[in-house]
Amino acid sequence: MGMIENPRHQGMRKRLVEGLKIKGIRNEKVLDAIGKVPRHLFMESTFIQFAYKDQAFPIGAGQTISQPFTVAMQTQLLQIEKGEKVLEVGTGSGYQAAVLLEMGAKVFTIERQKELYTKVHKFLPEIGYNPACFFGDGYKGLPNFAPFDKIIVTAGATYIPEDLKKQLAVNGRMVIPVGNEQRQEMNVITRVSEDEFKSEKHGDFVFVPLLKGQ
Ligand code: SAH
Repeated sequence: MGMIENPRHQGMRKRLVEGLKIKGIRNEKVLDAIGKVPRHLFMESTFIQFAYKDQAFPIGAGQTISQPFTVAMQTQLLQIEKGEKVLEVGTGSGYQAAVLLEMGAKVFTIERQKELYTKVHKFLPEIGYNPACFFGDGYKGLPNFAPFDKIIVTAGATYIPEDLKKQLAVNGRMVIPVGNEQRQEMNVITRVSEDEFKSEKHGDFVFVPLLKGQ
C-alpha cells in the first residue's frame, strides 16, 4: 500500500474537505475526521495520485474504496457520538473504518473477501487504527458482539437483512444502501423500540454489491 505522509497530502485533504462542504456535508466532526485520515495510504500505488479526488477507486479483489462524498454522507447520517459501538459491513480498504475511529467510535468491521481482510487487519494497526476486524458474512452481522449503537453497510443490498436489524440497539441507527445492481437508495433505519423500526431515504448512490457467503 501507501507511502508516507508529507505536507502536500495535508493540503490536498484540506481541499477535499472544502469540496465536501460545497457538496453539502455540514457535520464538522465528519469533516474533521476526513481531514485527518491519510487516504493515500489506503490506495493501490497506481491510484495514489488520485487519493484526494472525490472519486471511488479499485482496491483489488474487484472491490473499490468508496468515494469520499459517499463516506462523508453515510458517516453524517450515522450521527456518531464518541464511544459508540459501530458495526461496519464491508471493510474493503479500511478507510471508512478509520474515519469512524477518528470520530471516537469503537469499530467492529466485517469483510467477506479473505484477501482484503488479511491485508487490512494487518495494515490498519500499522498506521494507528485499531478496529476489531472479522472475516465473515456481513449479512449475518456479529451476533456475539451485539447490540450496536450504529450499523453501516458499505455495499449495495437488495433488501435489509433481518439479522442486522436484530443487532441494532434501541434508538440505534443503521445506514444501508438498498436497491438493484445499478443504483441504491440510502436508507436510514432507526430502531424506535424493541419491535418498532422507522425508515427514511436519503438519495441515490452506486455501490458494489453486498454478496452472500464468504
Ligand atoms: N468501506 C469500504 C468500502 C468497500 S466496498 C472502504 O472504506 O474502503 C464494499 C466491500 O464490501 C467490499 O470489500 C466487499 O468485498 C465487501 N462485501 C460485499 N459483500 C459482503 C458481505 N456479505 N459481508 C461482508 N463484506 C462484504
